[in-house]
Amino acid sequence: MDIVVDHITKKYGTQRAVDDVSFVVKTGEVLGFLGPNGAGKTTTMKAITCFLMPNEGDITVGGHSIHNDPEKIKRNIGYLPESNPLYREMPVIDYLKFIAELHGIEKNKIQARILDMVNTCGLEGEKHKKIGELSKGYQQRVGLAQALIHDPQVLVLDEPTSGLDPNQIVEIRELIREIGKEKTVILSSHILAEVEATCDRILIINKGKIVADGTSGELRKQSQGREILKISVEEGDKNEIFKALQDLPNSEIVDFISKSDHSFEVQSKPNTSSKKDVFNLCVKKGWILTELTPTETKLEDVFRELTKK
Ligand code: ATP
Repeated sequence: MDIVVDHITKKYGTQRAVDDVSFVVKTGEVLGFLGPNGAGKTTTMKAITCFLMPNEGDITVGGHSIHNDPEKIKRNIGYLPESNPLYREMPVIDYLKFIAELHGIEKNKIQARILDMVNTCGLEGEKHKKIGELSKGYQQRVGLAQALIHDPQVLVLDEPTSGLDPNQIVEIRELIREIGKEKTVILSSHILAEVEATCDRILIINKGKIVADGTSGELRKQSQGREILKISVEEGDKNEIFKALQDLPNSEIVDFISKSDHSFEVQSKPNTSSKKDVFNLCVKKGWILTELTPTETKLEDVFRELTKK
């Protein structure tokens, strides 16, 4: 079931929390929604799940518009809100039964659905405990189970791993990836490693506007344009090598990587390469080149670059 977000704007007073945002998520895709605090992630997710109406624009989920068919959309969406509101006094099983009934699942199918969710979300050992007695990680699993119980085609998860420990984070990410094979999933996060590990595609939002859209590889490439080479040379005069690298036609910035050995970083001018020049230089000078490696732009750098304004 595809999600089509079409030029939505949501204003709070004079602030445009979401400002003319458009994107499409296809069935079987896990989209990571990344952005700093206050970027507009939650607001966009609330609009998709029909929790709030944008001032402008439309969203369709499986062809149904948020303006005309919000009930049909809600039936097809599983939503894990940011704060994961749960009834802490209810045992897990009773809570899931309650949610199943709210969703109108046929009575004779409810038991099977609950068992299915308990298995899928790894709640077997905890199912009889009160929700308030569960660890944060297991509460998050209950949140996921309630989002999935009516077998929705679309899953919207607002910071699904917030507050979890590293082991729980890995488990929840694996679960989301598994679920994402069949469903359309949008998840929000500030954690770059998380979206990189879990999502097929990343959308970066800043101050209500989309500033990047692509796979992590594509995003790195977009902001790259500049080649950075790590170079190591055996022996030779360090300062002479440094000077010679600086004099290469395409090199822009040369730096020592370490004071103790002969390793350098050479950043080339935009859209140029210094690989061949470095190699030819070393041959000409008789320097033994032991390393010539392009280093990757880190996703952190891309994120900082795009959201620093
Ligand atoms: P975070 O990562 O901190 O959860 P976010 O990207 O989810 O942030 P939103 O919660 O969508 O950001 O908020 C976007 C902007 O809209 C923020 O500046 C926020 O203060 C503002 N905002 C959100 N909800 C309301 C509201 N009900 N009334 C007024 N302003 C709001």
